[in-house]
Amino acid sequence: MDGLPYTIPLQTTAAPQRTLKASIDCVGVGVHSGRKTTLTLQPAPVGSGIVFRRTDLNIDIPARFDHVDDTRLCTVLALPGRPEARVGTVEHVMAALAGCGVTNAVVTVDGPEVPILDGSAASFVFLIDCAGIVTQDAPAPTIEVLRTVRVTQGHGENAAFAELRPAPFGLDMAMSIAFDAAAIGRQALSLRVSPETFRADLARARTFTLAQEVAALQAAGLALGGSLDNAVVVDNARVLNPGGLRVADEFVRHKMLDAVGDLALAGAALRGRLVAHRSGHALNNQLLRALFADDANWRLVGGESRHPGSADTRMANAPSADGSAGLAGLGSWQERRVPVAAAPV
Ligand SMILES: [Zn+2]
Repeated sequence: MDGLPYTIPLQTTAAPQRTLKASIDCVGVGVHSGRKTTLTLQPAPVGSGIVFRRTDLNIDIPARFDHVDDTRLCTVLALPGRPEARVGTVEHVMAALAGCGVTNAVVTVDGPEVPILDGSAASFVFLIDCAGIVTQDAPAPTIEVLRTVRVTQGHGENAAFAELRPAPFGLDMAMSIAFDAAAIGRQALSLRVSPETFRADLARARTFTLAQEVAALQAAGLALGGSLDNAVVVDNARVLNPGGLRVADEFVRHKMLDAVGDLALAGAALRGRLVAHRSGHALNNQLLRALFADDANWRLVGGESRHPGSADTRMANAPSADGSAGLAGLGSWQERRVPVAAAPV
């Protein structure tokens, strides 16, 4: 024995908030708009959370579930009452930031959509690695799931659902998918999400689509930037990409990658277990709305100022833990948020 008591708390201090060490940018096309945009990832001060900045419109859009405006093919953030103030396909860069443990950052785009790059989160992880990550002098809050919330879509044994359950540590995910296309079929994956597992198991999984849907999407003015360079295209039993799949169950891994990005819109790290079948952007967002619809479902842990009387260092993006929580309290985000300072490049 080393003389230490048996019951050492497993987490005596919260993890620190983190931001990028420097700014970094890339150029690419939006998968749906087909527009070429420049994206930059920039450092941000303690308490900022993740904020999308449309540099062409000079507006900021907080990366928050209650700013999600459209989930039909990707996750679109928008400012309420301003339909032009939107940023589409935020989920992969959100997943990369959350997966790498970045709590505060400004993501600028000079157009309506985040570049799709290779259709996965790997390029964003590469950018984050190039920029570097620094810890900040404040603990990061965690949103602890206190009781199970569940949202469903459809009926029968193959109905889609997503559920968040209480869990002792971090964010666990157990997901399954079922497609008629033989190349996809049924796939399932269970994972504890950490920077290590995100990089190793999820980041490289690409978005995918069915060949028969490509023509319909493009006729509807969508997927204009889509190609075999940025999406896996499946024609029943065949994968049309010349290089095939990166991993045999790339499809369910990408669905989990999407869920990491969508759930990061909670505004702080989640402590809970996601169990989902055939879930997608819409259900993922409905799940967060259901979680925050009742204060008894969750609580904010940590992230408070360590010095009484000093500035509050809670995440501006995180829901309030003072009883004004839930959607009613979230409407005042713009008033409560910490201004994002110029990036210290
Ligand atoms: Zn995706």
